Amino acid sequence: MGLPTLDQADFWKTKSAQVIVYTNTKQLKQFVNGQTLEKLVSHLAKKNQLSESNDPIKEGLLADSKTVQHVYCLYCDETGRDIYRNIAANLARKARKSQQHDLAITLAIPSLDESMTTIIIQQLYEGFYLGDYQYQGYQTMVPKKEKHNTKLSFYGIKNKEITSAIKKGTILAKAQNMARDLANTPANYLTPKEFVSIAKKQCRNSALSIKVYDKKAAQKKKMGSFLAVAQGSVQAPYMLELTLNASKKSPIILVGKGVTFDTGGISLKPSRSMSCMKGDMGGAAAVYAAMVALAQLKTKHHVKAIIPLVENMPSAMAYKPGDVITAMNKKTIEVINTDAEGRLILADALCLATTYKPKLIIDIATLTGACAVTLGDVANAVLGNSQTAINAFLNRQDEVGERLWQLPLYDDYVDYLKSSVADMTNCAENRLAGTSTAAMFLKQFVDTSTWVHIDIASTMENKTTKGYHVKGMNGSGTRTLIEAILATP
Ligand SMILES: [Zn+2]
Repeated sequence: MGLPTLDQADFWKTKSAQVIVYTNTKQLKQFVNGQTLEKLVSHLAKKNQLSESNDPIKEGLLADSKTVQHVYCLYCDETGRDIYRNIAANLARKARKSQQHDLAITLAIPSLDESMTTIIIQQLYEGFYLGDYQYQGYQTMVPKKEKHNTKLSFYGIKNKEITSAIKKGTILAKAQNMARDLANTPANYLTPKEFVSIAKKQCRNSALSIKVYDKKAAQKKKMGSFLAVAQGSVQAPYMLELTLNASKKSPIILVGKGVTFDTGGISLKPSRSMSCMKGDMGGAAAVYAAMVALAQLKTKHHVKAIIPLVENMPSAMAYKPGDVITAMNKKTIEVINTDAEGRLILADALCLATTYKPKLIIDIATLTGACAVTLGDVANAVLGNSQTAINAFLNRQDEVGERLWQLPLYDDYVDYLKSSVADMTNCAENRLAGTSTAAMFLKQFVDTSTWVHIDIASTMENKTTKGYHVKGMNGSGTRTLIEAILATP
């Protein structure tokens, strides 16, 4: 594909601030050759501002008799990881600071083939809207934040591929922002019931259909493991089921852990940083947001989401260490630690998933602290019972920008879950291989289904803002799930 032409007359007509992405100063100069922009670029070049070691975002003003144009030149070092997402995120925040809310982007990278161009454009759009994210919160004394009102349009020739890359990048970013909003919402606002009512509202204007199992329906289905976790809370539990493109074909099923607040239950967590446990429904948020995005992207696949929603509280009614509970598949579980609750609600969600004879189950959960101990906050763990299915995730991770690292699922871990009173315990008393033993527990409930498990406890929260990672709950896994479905043949 050739370089998009920059039409001088159009350039002055648009009210948008102009953004030019380049990877090479010489090419940038060629790109603007003979155009109004040339003045700015040569001015920046003279001041040595375009030198590639400087701040990669250059901001400048161009003026004629009537208009003043804001111009950004974005230098992208092509060798960096996630470079386009990160620079677009930094641009979004820089533009917000300069009160520029309407931007038009163009690529001054001549040597790109079409597929690379669409990938870059998708990543620029993802990064831009992810970087622009601000959680609204409940502060009454500060001015209201401008919520996602910055607009990025594409300046240049728009063919079908570019148009769909723009759409996809925007939808993926906004889906992750939706997951961030859900996870950032305090647990007294986002209860299981509230999650359900948000989903119901969404389904009214979408191709998604919804089915809700309340406590009674869950009792009928004998979801004893799921219900045990919920019994200590005054908040009623719900098992949420969303369906897209219902058909006789085997569905792909997404399962997301939705503990709207996790105190640990009777095995109470220490109070330090317990407040971040409002985000213990990050898996549920990612699954829900992915379904909304898949409907918007009009995927043809038959996809289901199963989202168990509970609050884990200590009370006179709460389940206790030593209790034995029975899951939907009749397997019995001895509760060793009530803080290993995520896998208990997932157990019944996975049992429900298997009743639909799925071709693939993907579950995602803020499941184990051990995941962060193993990988830090820069990667998620992936495990499962099919190396082919896991490989597909590993092969996509660079393009998605969400790192995955495979951890083992050795049969030996079953021994760590041995109980003398039930079929298994809910966690290993030896505290070894926490992420793998949690996955081994889940494996007992997927029957013969092909299954991939993603532990996002490591990346659920950003402590600081850096590139497209914005401080607060991260919405991680959302894009991994969407891309997984879209890539399915
Ligand atoms: Zn827990």
